[in-house]
Amino acid sequence: MGIPHALILPFPAQGHVIPLMELSHCLADRGVEITFVNTEFNHGRIVAALGKHELKSDRVRHVSVPDGLAPDEDRNNVGRLVEGLHKSMPTILEEVIRQNNEKSGGSNKITCMIADQGMAWALEIAEKLGVRCVVFWPMCAALFPLLTSTPKLIDDGIIDEEGFPKGPSTFQLSDGMPLMETARLPWYINGSREAQKLVFHYMNANSRATKKAEFILCNSFQELESPTFNYAPYVLPIGPLLTGLRLGKPVGHFWPSEDTTCMSWLDEQPKNSVVYVAFGSLTIFDQNQFRELALGLETSGRPLLWVVRPDLTENTSDAYPSGFKDRLGRRGRIVSWSPQQEVLAHPSLACFISHCGWNSTMEGVRNGVPFLCWPHFGDQFANQTYICDVWRVGLKMVPGESGIVTSEHISSRLEELLLGDDGIMARARTLKEMANRSMEKEGSSFKNLNTFVEAMKRENA
Ligand code: UDP
Repeated sequence: MGIPHALILPFPAQGHVIPLMELSHCLADRGVEITFVNTEFNHGRIVAALGKHELKSDRVRHVSVPDGLAPDEDRNNVGRLVEGLHKSMPTILEEVIRQNNEKSGGSNKITCMIADQGMAWALEIAEKLGVRCVVFWPMCAALFPLLTSTPKLIDDGIIDEEGFPKGPSTFQLSDGMPLMETARLPWYINGSREAQKLVFHYMNANSRATKKAEFILCNSFQELESPTFNYAPYVLPIGPLLTGLRLGKPVGHFWPSEDTTCMSWLDEQPKNSVVYVAFGSLTIFDQNQFRELALGLETSGRPLLWVVRPDLTENTSDAYPSGFKDRLGRRGRIVSWSPQQEVLAHPSLACFISHCGWNSTMEGVRNGVPFLCWPHFGDQFANQTYICDVWRVGLKMVPGESGIVTSEHISSRLEELLLGDDGIMARARTLKEMANRSMEKEGSSFKNLNTFVEAMKRENA
């Protein structure tokens, strides 16, 4: 048996870097050497966010490479980002692998590449250099076979050649799998048809490239999406990946997440009382909607921990209803970024108002927290379907006729979730137990991860 060495390549966005850092720690703990490749831009942010703490950890080496964009360019412009990556990264990645493997003279060679599905094009480089190919799928497992089925969906008249809806409004890939909304598939971007087309074609190109992969790993667990794993047994669930929480290791936050004031404030709140509101790293609110949300949270009168990123809405600091922060006083905390995994594990949490990004979904599930779902784009709608219709551990926020979710709706949904008695809390607790069991010794994800590592070691001998 040799020592496997994995080059790990996330798509350069927060929701991709965090789970792949988690995976790196899990693999390093099992004896795998790791070279983690971030873009220079993101690496700089992570190091700055860590402050005095160290990014370096045993067996995990960090390498940063240019993303092909100018320093001041907008990294949230997916089209430009993808163009920049394609232009600059292939040659540099090849260099990183070659240099490492020549220098190491036989030992410590990079033996496999674990590419985020959003970077699956890079597997071509791995293949060329004789490095084994693995893909990490960062969404719910149910969406992986959806992507491989797009040619069939087009043939069946469900979507058109550009990924836009054509036939029925919903469909199901197989019995027991979640119902998918044709107009809200993972390439859905609210407002821009051009961007949506680009994402559709980019995802499909990457999906074709995943054919090179001998393993497709995903941050889910067998018991959470059983019908999907029966339908697509080639997807290997190894989650929930929450090593940062378990072992206190850095997971690559772009914003400083150490806000001890918010954790000590949580300590002071009654058990099961706090409404936690966070919409991940990219979601943006229209100012009117932001105000309406603030009013709804105020009306509810419950303790509140709200993550308001500096770019959550236009002129964020002036966007609150007048006097909002004074009225909130000690009843609430507003932070620009939270240590979310720790927050969700805190006993004072009552519920999570979430955009339903997959990482947030897994983190909520793993902690038995019920959801109020507010998806905006991409895979968030599929995750909402899972949360509300399949696992039944949350409720949906429903926009009114104006397209705005009103403050009255927000506060009444909160009451319904927290005081209603339709078994949501009990089901959330059951899911939490299942999630924990899957990562314990002999649990399904624990075993899958070991199977993967053993395979990497065996053929590396
Ligand atoms: N997150 C965090 N603090 C915050 C908000 C988010 O640590 O205040 C983390 C969260 O724990 C999750 C990630 O950022 O791991 C967001 O990923 P997700 O897939 O939920 O959403 P995305 O940012 O990709 O839309």
